[in-house]
Amino acid sequence: VLPHLLLAQSLAGAAAPSPLALWEAWPAVRFVTDPAPCLRPADLVARLEALRSRHEGRLALEEAGRSVEGRPIHLLTVGRGPRKVLLWSQMHGDEPSATPALLDVAHELLSNADRADARAVLDGLTLLMVPMLNPDGAERYERRNAQGIDVNRDALNLATPEGRLLKALRDRHRPEVGFNLHDQGRRTTAGDTGRLATISLLAVSGDAAQTLTPGRQRSKRICSAIVAALAGLVPEGGAVARYDEDWSPRAFGDNLTAWGTPVVLVESGGLPAGRPLTDLTRLNFVALLTVLAELARHDLAGVSPAAYEALPRNDTGSYADVVLRGGHVVQPGAGEAYRADVAFDAASPDPSRAGCQPPAPGSRVTEVGDARFMAAGTSMDAAGSWIVPAWTAVVRGAAARAWLGEEVLRSWARLGVASARWLVEPGERAAAEALAGRLAGSDRTRLVVGEAGEAASGLALAGPPREPEGADLAQVLAALAGAAPAAGTVALPGLLAALGSGRIAPDGPADLVVLRPGPDPEAPSRAALSAVFVDGRRTR
Ligand SMILES: [Zn+2]
Repeated sequence: VLPHLLLAQSLAGAAAPSPLALWEAWPAVRFVTDPAPCLRPADLVARLEALRSRHEGRLALEEAGRSVEGRPIHLLTVGRGPRKVLLWSQMHGDEPSATPALLDVAHELLSNADRADARAVLDGLTLLMVPMLNPDGAERYERRNAQGIDVNRDALNLATPEGRLLKALRDRHRPEVGFNLHDQGRRTTAGDTGRLATISLLAVSGDAAQTLTPGRQRSKRICSAIVAALAGLVPEGGAVARYDEDWSPRAFGDNLTAWGTPVVLVESGGLPAGRPLTDLTRLNFVALLTVLAELARHDLAGVSPAAYEALPRNDTGSYADVVLRGGHVVQPGAGEAYRADVAFDAASPDPSRAGCQPPAPGSRVTEVGDARFMAAGTSMDAAGSWIVPAWTAVVRGAAARAWLGEEVLRSWARLGVASARWLVEPGERAAAEALAGRLAGSDRTRLVVGEAGEAASGLALAGPPREPEGADLAQVLAALAGAAPAAGTVALPGLLAALGSGRIAPDGPADLVVLRPGPDPEAPSRAALSAVFVDGRRTR
């Protein structure tokens, strides 16, 4: 017997890899290494063609249609079994996590075609994969297509070529099950568990009464199998949840189910701080491979819908990136210090988080008040502290260009300056704006150019800061402006007004300073800066 036949026999007898083994193998065996948010339509086409070359003659790649703007929409067909499964991703252009996972799944199956579990999938099923249904939206990283239509609300109108393509595939192949692969809000939580809904599942209904057809019963078993596959793999702080909407009459999942192809909705969601977005692609890879193997082998016989039915439901609005807990807010115009938590989100669009776009500004305060039931990526104990709006600085004259630089803006941000208005004569404005644009960054004071004549209030700054002698407010202000306020005599609200402090209010930017009072609470200038957030990012 030839050695390679022996090898083939031993592989054929080998057990299917466990979900944990698939999870651990993925970094080395994945076919697409780009993070999903960085994969543009042209990149995907190149990866699909590379996949076809790698597995020449063992998969079919065809242009199944074109988008509104003429981009190709590809259908990747793997396996030649009698039972058809349709999987589509990125019908919303900014929801890409499963897109590379589909290519990874195809590559993994074809690379292990000698192994029994992969053989069962390839011989038993025909996988019809549309990795990027909405390439125009993907090009712009937007939800909708180039007509401005949400393709997933177009199942009845069929006004979009992308929607018509999906319907035509369904009608031509009559798949016995469909996988509708999306991303959801990254701050969705699993019920009131305080954990992020990393993956949410729905065994989609085909009618408003949520009739439990045999097909939908199996969708529930598929969801239960995904729950089992991902147990222990979802990063700490995340969870599998149940998608919150039962029936959406214009959506494709619901209508495909009604037309005879029961649909499983998989929504990739939030990850705890520090975890890469590629975890979502990795979880999709494990979940899809595991359930496809179970579908092929025994049609998920013996799997109970109970694990799916017991999932906590998706919840929104109960998670913030940062919550400052137990502090007292002081701000101009709001009287005495008052007990309030402050919750906020720092903007982090997926392409920025994945490293293919620069960080984007845009923090948002989401709660001022009682946030005790709010979960957070980062909780900070602010008990006994004052939470106050960060300062605004005023810089006068174009000559400041001699000393304004990134390091100055970073130092200011550490000392509580959220923004600086740089006032110049009209003729110098263009040059000042160009410099301000070059100096902009997410870890520093925002520099905004204004007119020399305008009335601007705030902390007047005329040069780079000194290194403060300590963290006391008086020392910090002395380091910034060269003059300390009269220690012990100025009430905090008045002091804040003089510093050009803004407002802490819902939907406003998270420009905040946390002050720890000194021994004499009547002497706010002796309070210490314990934390500073500029546009939601901690700078101190
Ligand atoms: Zn979506």
